[in-house]
Amino acid sequence: EEDKSLNFIEEIVEEDLRNGTHDGRVLTRFPPEPNGYLHIGHAKSICLNFGLAQKYNGKTNLRFDDTNPVTEDVEYVESIKKDIQWLGFQWAEELYTSDYFETLYQYAIQLIQHDLAYVDDSTAEEIAAAKGTPTEPGVPTPYRSRSIEENLTLFQEMRDGKYKDGEKVLRAKIDLANPNMHLRDPLLYRIKHAHHHRTGDKWCIYPMYDFAHGQSDSIEKITHSVCTLEFIPHRPLYDWLIEKLEIFPSHQYEFARLNMTYTVMSKRKLLQLVTEGHVESWDDPRMPTISGFRRRGYTPASIRNFCERIGVQKRENMIDVSLLEFCIREDLNKTAWRRMAVLDPIKMVITNYPDGQVEELHGENNPEVEGGEGSRMIPFSKELWIEREDFMEEPPKKFFRLGPGLSVRLKHGYIVECHDFKKDENGQVTEVHCTYIPNSKSGEDTSGLKVKGTIHWVSVAHAKKAEVRLYDRLFQVENPAAEEDFKASINKESLHIIENAYIEPDLANAIPGKGYQFIRMGYFTLDTKSTPDHLVFNRTVTLKDSWAK
Ligand code: ATP
Ligand code: MG
Ligand code: MG
Repeated sequence: EEDKSLNFIEEIVEEDLRNGTHDGRVLTRFPPEPNGYLHIGHAKSICLNFGLAQKYNGKTNLRFDDTNPVTEDVEYVESIKKDIQWLGFQWAEELYTSDYFETLYQYAIQLIQHDLAYVDDSTAEEIAAAKGTPTEPGVPTPYRSRSIEENLTLFQEMRDGKYKDGEKVLRAKIDLANPNMHLRDPLLYRIKHAHHHRTGDKWCIYPMYDFAHGQSDSIEKITHSVCTLEFIPHRPLYDWLIEKLEIFPSHQYEFARLNMTYTVMSKRKLLQLVTEGHVESWDDPRMPTISGFRRRGYTPASIRNFCERIGVQKRENMIDVSLLEFCIREDLNKTAWRRMAVLDPIKMVITNYPDGQVEELHGENNPEVEGGEGSRMIPFSKELWIEREDFMEEPPKKFFRLGPGLSVRLKHGYIVECHDFKKDENGQVTEVHCTYIPNSKSGEDTSGLKVKGTIHWVSVAHAKKAEVRLYDRLFQVENPAAEEDFKASINKESLHIIENAYIEPDLANAIPGKGYQFIRMGYFTLDTKSTPDHLVFNRTVTLKDSWAK
């Protein structure tokens, strides 16, 4: 009765539900450290944790893992909350590991009282050296045999601020010969005289990840604590601490983190890209951050679908970024409104069209849905902007666009035939001259003419100017993190700015966050920094995968 549609974590949850473990309760958590913006890898973890809760009538806590005062900031807390909600999820409770500092401190005292923890005065180097190697057992430092009384006093003094950073640590007393290095008396607390963004100067000792994480899970009575594979060797310590403290038995399960081609997925590296100016900000549309994807025009549904498609694995792998691009194309093809924009303009003059005449043409907003979601008016006149590459002076065979003697249809408009063109002194074409066929108007064409090509255009007198930003991969290699210096493979041409594109006038009303298909040019969205006086559009993705070469 194995259900192939379930991922392995869902199988575990269903097994627990069948066995009545935790009284049929499912409580997951998403535990970001507020030391950076969330990236697409976090989206995978969010979709998994919140998805499990949704599927099994459970809940998900948002817990800020704020145990490192030096790198954390409220700016990150706010961005994380915004990104999770934008993805379409709502947490049950907003919690902070720092709220558990007192409880964690009491847990540490409990361990000391059971002779399961001790204060060590050794330096970091001395501790590392005494830990041994995976094949050689470690040796005790002189402090391992301290009495319970002495440890209690010293630990209290650590809390009271009597010692400097690094002077002492609290370690679990487990097994210095254990093949698992994480069990060789791991650090539980370190001294850090630093201001914390929530607890201020109240604490100068901070719990290590391994001491804070599982205990926080237990305090919240998390049933399924899902994390990434690198924490597998930490699991015995997770279980040891819960067992010795005799607290709620949360369980840790591990899945493969998301790795994606042509990008990096570590907050530390992403922070470097920002602080060293390789990108504009955390939400630069080239960044693999959720905020970057949002600004670029990705929809929450496209990211959720991507996470659904890649699934949940037990083994590390590398996902091709073109799968993510496929997901956003699929979504935008259904939802984007069609518009016309000319990115590299040359002028077309329709020599037989009356001077000063303006016609109001109409185009459906979205031909993919019945009713088209309404239409917009597109002004048509004697002078149009067309795409430079849609004209060739000496077109080859099968060039179904414009050249001397060639005809095309103007989208939503008429068939035109080219009879002349003008060049400047450098040989650059500056104007294309055509005649139009009056009875060939789209929707009421009685001309009987057949043309193979359709091109987009905007009316010179009515077009608005816009800045259009085209993006390319931020890195030139598939796995920049595997390079000696990941920054050496940054693509210097990842941003191409077109300062003077011409867009159809209705795009001045573009809705923030909405996707638009610029016909033949790709999917675009208004940039968050766009203003009515200076319109800026970002290309979300091209219409077709141009990388499949
Ligand atoms: P980074 O290395 O980017 O700093 P992190 O794991 O230190 O990532 P956290 O803020 O601790 O970042 O992550 C919160 C949660 O998101 C954790 O449960 C973590 O396992 C998960 N997570 C982080 N990166 C990925 C990824 N690439 N794929 C899937 N889950 C991830
Ligand atoms: Mg972490
Ligand atoms: Mg990290």
